[in-house]
Amino acid sequence: MPVVAVIPEPNAEVELREVASPELEQDSALLEVELSEVCGTDVYLQRGLLQGVPYPLVPGHVSVGRLSKIRGGLFDVEGRPFREGDRVTFLDVHRICNACWYCLVAKATTRCPQRKVYGITYGLDDGLCGGWAEQIYLKPGTRCIRLEADAETFMAGGCALPTALHAVERGDIAIGDTVLVLGSGPVGINAIILSLMRSALKVICIGAPTHRLEAASQVGAFDVLNFEDFDERGRLDWVLEQTKGRGADVTIEATGAPDAVVQAMRFTRDAGRVVIVGQYTDHGPVSAEAAFNPHLDLNKKHLDVRGCWGSDFSHFYRGVQIVSDPVRSMPWLALKSNLHRYRLSEANEALADVAQGHVLKALIEPNEKTAA
Ligand SMILES: [Zn+2]
Ligand SMILES: [Zn+2]
Repeated sequence: MPVVAVIPEPNAEVELREVASPELEQDSALLEVELSEVCGTDVYLQRGLLQGVPYPLVPGHVSVGRLSKIRGGLFDVEGRPFREGDRVTFLDVHRICNACWYCLVAKATTRCPQRKVYGITYGLDDGLCGGWAEQIYLKPGTRCIRLEADAETFMAGGCALPTALHAVERGDIAIGDTVLVLGSGPVGINAIILSLMRSALKVICIGAPTHRLEAASQVGAFDVLNFEDFDERGRLDWVLEQTKGRGADVTIEATGAPDAVVQAMRFTRDAGRVVIVGQYTDHGPVSAEAAFNPHLDLNKKHLDVRGCWGSDFSHFYRGVQIVSDPVRSMPWLALKSNLHRYRLSEANEALADVAQGHVLKALIEPNEKTAA
């Protein structure tokens, strides 16, 4: 009987449970989990801040493991069959319908109403559908991706990798652009790496705390600023100094703070682009102090502001290829020193450390045996 870590209901502590191993349907598989991620979304899940979440829930939407049992056929996008023992990750989004208006006309599968997400909108009642568990049940139609990189290198990017890849794509970064990244959490750090890969001349970052800004510098940020030491005016002055008085060509907001959305617009040059990726959960409206002015902050600036919600198979797939490449994977190799591992029985500590920003990236190792 596999052991899983469960959030029984919003605002409750995570607890361990034993659940029955599933009967495999045709063309499904069982994954023996090596590593699963603890990210900001899991903190919000524990606090009950996401809509449409069925509790009790086994969190962990991005995981790596080995296929321990396959029933029927399981194929990668190149048509090659997976075999038992293969190391894979899989797209956490399941059941994109490819039949609805959003899938077919808007070509925005992240808005497909049929969409389900392992570890977020699949609860324990749907089966072994989260990564904080010894095993995950990969339902028929789950898109697995063969992983040639080692598990840790991939998880150094984790769910932030496809998210940031999507954000950078939305930002249409051009050769020689100066990119401003707001936020130095996992999405911000991955956005720095990928902006540079997408030929930004330089990337600057405003974030906190210091250890995260050090990681930002480590992966190539030209300069960093701790926002706790400066008010909005001070931050703007710093950005202007870095950009010949114009503001950033592209700003990627990856903070989770509503006011940062308005600041992202103010810190961007006229006719520049702003990508909002840090508001995946509802953090409420901007504050009265932020005082968004549609004329000054948006229209007169001729800004292009783009929302970026979730990621699709292409982002996931491209991310895996990049971290599996010996040269391109270097920035993530450098980030491995920022990984902190926890056993299943330590899931509450892991959540607390992520919530308080003590660690850049927390990973659950479900098959490291629980301390007695
Ligand atoms: Zn659809
Ligand atoms: Zn995540």
